[in-house]
Amino acid sequence: MPLKIIICGGGIGGLSAAGYLRANHDVTVLERSKLDFTINDYGLSVVANAFNLLQKAGIKQENLDMVVMTHLWLRTHNNEEMRTEHFDTRARFGGAPSVLLKRAKLQEELMRFATSNEFAGGPAKVIENAKVTRVDAGAGKVWSEDGQVFEGDLIIGADGIHSIVRSAVLGGETPSRIRNTDTITFMAKLSVEDLRSDASFAYLADPAKQAGLCSAYAKSGPEVKKRILTYHTSLHGLQVVGYTVENEFAEKFASAKSAIIKDIPISRVVEDFAPEFSDDLVNLFRHSKVDAWKIRDLASMDTWYSGKALLIGDAVHAVTPHAGQGANITIEDAEALGYLLRDVESSDAIPDVLEKFVSLRKDRVNFVTRRSRELGNIQTDEDRTKVPITSAEFAKEIYTYLGAEHALKVPKPPIGAEATKGAN
Ligand SMILES: Cc1cc2nc3c(=O)[nH]c(=O)nc-3n(C[C@H](O)[C@H](O)[C@H](O)COP(=O)(O)OP(=O)(O)OC[C@H]3O[C@@H](n4cnc5c(N)ncnc54)[C@H](O)[C@@H]3O)c2cc1C
Repeated sequence: MPLKIIICGGGIGGLSAAGYLRANHDVTVLERSKLDFTINDYGLSVVANAFNLLQKAGIKQENLDMVVMTHLWLRTHNNEEMRTEHFDTRARFGGAPSVLLKRAKLQEELMRFATSNEFAGGPAKVIENAKVTRVDAGAGKVWSEDGQVFEGDLIIGADGIHSIVRSAVLGGETPSRIRNTDTITFMAKLSVEDLRSDASFAYLADPAKQAGLCSAYAKSGPEVKKRILTYHTSLHGLQVVGYTVENEFAEKFASAKSAIIKDIPISRVVEDFAPEFSDDLVNLFRHSKVDAWKIRDLASMDTWYSGKALLIGDAVHAVTPHAGQGANITIEDAEALGYLLRDVESSDAIPDVLEKFVSLRKDRVNFVTRRSRELGNIQTDEDRTKVPITSAEFAKEIYTYLGAEHALKVPKPPIGAEATKGAN
């Protein structure tokens, strides 16, 4: 008998989990919004670890309006030097490509994975405008704002950083797990065409030949949090992300009760970056409206499930965007769950599967969380007692991941060995 599975949230995690689980189970996804895949969404990297899993599942490159990453460019803030690294995970790690694309394009293809007849199993039912307002983890029941009640053998909380399912899993009045940092990003978009007249950006001007991500850091001191990233999001567009300290935005986010403040005056962005960065980098923000995004993550959680409810994705391990891994580890969660539940026919077997799932995923996502904080210079006091993860260690661990079946067959020592500074 297939299990009846209710997934709360139709984002990256919810739709990927629906895609993997529908092969063997009866899946319903409850999404609070009306999904719109036409929006000019922000850019994401889906790197080899997750892209490999998606390709194996039948996700089609040609549906993604994506580019394959071939390069990383590391610039000094003042434009005096630039280091070019070849970053093609097909060659470097003998595996899948790493790609850059818009989030909405990925979500659209994941919707196809979840609902199209081209994949194995019955299509998942995706119900839009169904905001989950209450979850009973013990009973496996979910209530939506419009008064509907859904019951399942398993409830999956894929409802993002402000997860309602998390409150049910953790029970009652637990303190918020969201950890605010003192960092924000200014987010803007531009077209490849916008760059063509500026010779200093020739390396970004032909993404059909070479595509990737350019990173420029401010030099040192407190400004070390400042960084301007530019990366392709398709053959035609780029995303610009300027990390900086929060300053007066702390109060603005608090009073707006939102993690995004739209339409930041360009003069405010220039004021922030012009003292440390060359004009050509600062001018990248002049091509579109600029929004400010608050950077947060979740404190590491020991409890990922309770009764019939399990958390995946940002609901249980939201990470800061510095390592570009949030969506990737979420897709890994979905694949692992699909694999572990593939033969399960009775709800009695679910608790063991959930335990196995957590033991498979937890060290890995904690490793990503710590590396993301290190890259943003926003570690906790506890993080600072650990020996930092090197980029080589991180790349090897992350890009060579081959999915749950392989991870279970080849048990390894805990990753990111928790070496403490000063220990022998
Ligand atoms: C600016 C930025 C850049 C990023 N860059 C990268 C990157 O380069 N690479 C990368 O791997 N990751 C990146 N990430 C992170 C990545 O987007 C997230 O980690 C990923 O989307 C997590 O997937 P999720 O399904 O858990 O959450 P989401 O994709 O946020 O989906 C949650 C879904 O749940 C729905 N929902 C919420 N509450 C309810 C409710 N009560 N009822 C029903 N539905 C609900 C929401 O509407 C949403 O559709 C970035 C994130 C940001 C913000």
